[in-house]
Amino acid sequence: MITVKNPIVEMNGDEMTRVIWGMVKERLLLPYLAIDLKAYDLHIKVRDETDDRITVEAANAIARYGVGVKCATITPNAARISEYGLKEQWKSPNGTIRAILDGTVFRKPIMVANIAPMVRSWVKPITVARHAYGDIYENVEIQVPGPGKAALVFTPADDSAQITRLIHEFDGPGVVMGVHNLDRSIRSFAQTCIAYAVSAKLDIWFAAKDTISKTYHARFRDVFQGEIDAHQAELDAAGVTYFYTLIDDAVARIMRHEGGILWACTNYDGDVMSDMIASGYGSLGLMTSVLVSPSGVYEYEAAHGTVQKHYYRHLKGERTSTNSAATIYAWTGALAKRGELDGTPEVVSFASKLEAAVVETIKGGTMTGDMARIAQPAPTEAVSTEEFIEAIERKLEEKL
Ligand code: NAP
Ligand code: MG
Repeated sequence: MITVKNPIVEMNGDEMTRVIWGMVKERLLLPYLAIDLKAYDLHIKVRDETDDRITVEAANAIARYGVGVKCATITPNAARISEYGLKEQWKSPNGTIRAILDGTVFRKPIMVANIAPMVRSWVKPITVARHAYGDIYENVEIQVPGPGKAALVFTPADDSAQITRLIHEFDGPGVVMGVHNLDRSIRSFAQTCIAYAVSAKLDIWFAAKDTISKTYHARFRDVFQGEIDAHQAELDAAGVTYFYTLIDDAVARIMRHEGGILWACTNYDGDVMSDMIASGYGSLGLMTSVLVSPSGVYEYEAAHGTVQKHYYRHLKGERTSTNSAATIYAWTGALAKRGELDGTPEVVSFASKLEAAVVETIKGGTMTGDMARIAQPAPTEAVSTEEFIEAIERKLEEKL
């Protein structure tokens, strides 16, 4: 038994990922670790019963203990209301947790030799950091009914003069949208990216559309650059470089790059590009995700959802072949960080052995359907959800 000195906050979730969650804990973690898990069940019914207080409590617990690991959860929509008889369309738990902890989401693909990315040049992982505040995600919109004027108006809190800009004089129906961002949020995004890049020894790329948006996007460029300048010595010491370019240039270069960089993205770019990167590296089941808060708190999860379609098959007693790799990496990420913060190298070493067991299992040709479809050489058959975890367990046993 390996003792994990301080607690990890564990958040259970929904559907197929909940099934995997149980198997991973039972087969790959609890037999080997003496660990104090502070458990919060974010199952959709529990969120409903507690009026979603459980999610807020979980977020507060992560803030208290420093490290959390989360299973994928349902973000309710109209269909879920009737499926689970919910009181209301509770907000996305990830959104709630992010709002409480603040911070940046980093997504990184798990790479295995026999699962080549769709983009031939990508030989190392591209980590995408998405700024998770403002822009169109906190927009204000008007559907313009007919002729009239739309303007931007800023009314200072002090007595200074109002600032007004005409957006457009409409001669007929249209649409208009207001977005905002905050210097302090961009700054904290830049700081988190720098901290991550220094710790992982990755060069940083950042991009915006400052040739067109000479104030809004230019502000992102300048605030980010300000943080780079302030941390130059730290970046130099780690051998980390900074590269700013236009977003279209960045996209074009990414498609020919070998990877091994941290790509810092504005909110919308990160939303879109992280999905492009995820699919380009092969399978959603191989994409990991971590929320890093400016206060130094870490929350790990798989980037995919609850894999609903597989769950319905599972409920009917049919065979499923769901990839648990990203979920296992959520746990190893949390364990490695816990070990690093606690100064317990044996915990860090367990995490890296478990990761190696996952990679070697896949490399050896034992894989789930999502990977079998794209692996070269293709395995003779895809294993089931359980068989994949059992194969990883056997590999792990060899290493301990
Ligand atoms: P999803 O769960 O990510 O699954 C979409 C499809 O991607 C699956 O049907 C499956 O394709 C494939 N896939 C994803 N993960 C896989 C894995 N581990 N192994 C094998 N295949 C995998 O997205 P969704 O079906 O759109 O969303 C389902 C629920 O998840 C929704 O209620 C949504 O709100 C929630 N969600 C939660 C999070 C989160 O908690 N972080 C994130 C996204 C979505 P095939 O069917 O072709 O096999
Ligand atoms: Mg997206």
